[in-house]
Amino acid sequence: YRDKHEPSPLLLRLRQLRVGDFKSMPAAIRANISIYDAIVTMFTQNVGSLIVVAEDHELLGMISRKDLLKAALGKTELQQVPVGVIMTRMPNIIMTTPDEPIIDASRKLVQHQIDTLPVVEAFIDEQGDERYEVVGRFTKTNVTKILVQIGTLGQ
Ligand code: ADP
Repeated sequence: YRDKHEPSPLLLRLRQLRVGDFKSMPAAIRANISIYDAIVTMFTQNVGSLIVVAEDHELLGMISRKDLLKAALGKTELQQVPVGVIMTRMPNIIMTTPDEPIIDASRKLVQHQIDTLPVVEAFIDEQGDERYEVVGRFTKTNVTKILVQIGTLGQ
């Protein structure tokens, strides 16, 4: 592309792509399930991270492979202890929204060295506090698939 100072049409298109068009179904569990059952769920759902939600799909936390490995190394009773005890919890969860550009969401994955962002929509509860409903997940796999799609454009 000729002009160095003007982004190419491909780059402009890339910057317009939104998380909502590429997100996956949320792999979600409830906070009261055991660490043992979370490990089983990670295998059956074939994912590396699980999103922990309340009954109404409100985002509560995240559980990753390493969180479960760490718990399995210790003396924790895996069948008894709920994942809610060991999860990374709100408000420390890095999130994205369906309308966020995929470039910005991908930057969050890189900067925070994580594999998965919950895709959320904000809502206001009865107390007037902001909460987040989980509507999907955006992962490094989604980013890789986008790269493959772009690389095979026109083929
Ligand atoms: P792994 O532990 O398999 O390497 P990650 O790199 O995604 O997976 O997770 C690293 C740590 O960050 C874990 O303790 C996990 O609970 C936490 N974590 C995972 N996803 C998020 C997120 N979206 N926001 C904040 N913390 C997260």
